[in-house]
Amino acid sequence: MKPYAVIGAGPMGLCTVRNLHKYDIPCVGFEIHGDVGGLWDIDSPTSTMYESAHLISSKKMTEFAEFPMAEEVAPFPHHRELRQYFRDYAREFGLYDLYEFNTEVVHCERDGDDWLITTRCNGEEQTRSFGGLLIANGTLHHPNQPPLPGDFAGEVLHSSEYRDPAIFEGRRVLLVGCGNSGADIAVDAVHRAASVDISLRRGYYFLPKFIGGKPTDAVGGKIRLPRFVQQRVSAALSRFMLGRPSQYGLPEPDYRMFESHPVINSLILHHIGHGDIRPQGDIESIDGHTVTFRDGRSGDYDTILMATGYKLHYPFIDSGHLNWQGFAPGLYLNVFHPQYDNLFLMGMVEAAGLGWEGRNEQAELVALYIRQLSFGADSARRFRDIKRERVALRADGGMNYLQLERMAYYVHKDTYLKALRGHTADLRRDLASRDTGQFVSSAGAAR
Ligand SMILES: Cc1cc2nc3c(=O)[nH]c(=O)nc-3n(C[C@H](O)[C@H](O)[C@H](O)COP(=O)(O)OP(=O)(O)OC[C@H]3O[C@@H](n4cnc5c(N)ncnc54)[C@H](O)[C@@H]3O)c2cc1C
Repeated sequence: MKPYAVIGAGPMGLCTVRNLHKYDIPCVGFEIHGDVGGLWDIDSPTSTMYESAHLISSKKMTEFAEFPMAEEVAPFPHHRELRQYFRDYAREFGLYDLYEFNTEVVHCERDGDDWLITTRCNGEEQTRSFGGLLIANGTLHHPNQPPLPGDFAGEVLHSSEYRDPAIFEGRRVLLVGCGNSGADIAVDAVHRAASVDISLRRGYYFLPKFIGGKPTDAVGGKIRLPRFVQQRVSAALSRFMLGRPSQYGLPEPDYRMFESHPVINSLILHHIGHGDIRPQGDIESIDGHTVTFRDGRSGDYDTILMATGYKLHYPFIDSGHLNWQGFAPGLYLNVFHPQYDNLFLMGMVEAAGLGWEGRNEQAELVALYIRQLSFGADSARRFRDIKRERVALRADGGMNYLQLERMAYYVHKDTYLKALRGHTADLRRDLASRDTGQFVSSAGAAR
């Protein structure tokens, strides 16, 4: 079997290589940085991590099931612990040997049924042929930076460039956007800046990290409720624990809980309540250091930090290969191309609570499919038909997700996992009947 190429050694790339290896599919991983961990390695040139960042989802809801974090690790560990976790994971499963580090994939093109991959390492380019291509280059690297209405005389930064709150020392700071990064960075700025304002275009739901001493997602994840009940219960819980956004001078969300990603941060509300952070509306115009907001209020600032999210970005492959539909490639389960059987977008998926284990399940399905295709198995033929037929089907579980660019590849966790597990079970059953011995048991069997 010809080797498969994997782009990226973040959590997604790592579990992809792990699963390919587990199912005896030859592969080579490529990573720009000199080590594994993806954006969790703050020293990587491609990382968008900042010093104060911790996990937002709790460790039990996020870790790889076959590689749990140590008991003494806090429920929401610091990014440096997570970098170590991925290094340990890569060592445990022998993944380092399967990667070429300091190597960027610069171009991928079709060559008959194969892929020609051009890489660059130390300025030298090399082109090699692979039997398949798995893209795990991450979704949070290419800044979404909408133009500002006017000329700002101070400094403008995107959250991707932000590392350390020292840059705010004595400055009048305006944060734009209040997603999880925006909220974290506003809280960071409070301790250094002369003033901190945050501009919000729409309302957000806020959730605390802990309820009754337990991580909120672990409590919520244990209770199985119909979707609309879960939305109501969580919204009521948020109101009970933290109050309504409007009580803090923030806009109320005009959508239901979980129709956009909630902000898992109660500290920002604490600081708004103490006058350390002042909420502002959408920006109307900018002139020099003065920013005027839609409600007519204005303020003077030295730094504008745009926490306006990211865009999907695949600069190394012709977009015609990715079946783009609007803001994101149109792929079955966000992974499988309707025509190509050897091209997979790994980790182009976001969901409340999916974690790295959800990504690992995705990687296992892909590896099983490749394995079974190589045997010409019936289950692979069935899956090939399904991925073509259902390419436009979104695993949204009936959620009315906001029509935003960053929500274009959002899925409903339970619906998504159910679909993954159904296909995985079918492919695995078929593989077991082949009696290869090596692959038959459940996840984690063949190291
Ligand atoms: C501040 C912050 C907090 C977060 N908190 C959570 C959380 O609590 N829970 C959670 O589940 N998720 C969280 N995330 C989301 C995060 O994206 C995922 O946890 C995870 O890192 C995604 O893994 P990935 O491998 O898909 O991408 P990444 O970690 O981004 O890794 C992609 C890798 O691909 C490499 N690469 C890119 N292009 C090329 C190329 N052309 N050639 C070679 N290599 C390439 C990059 O160098 C990088 O190492 C957070 C993100 C941020 C920024």
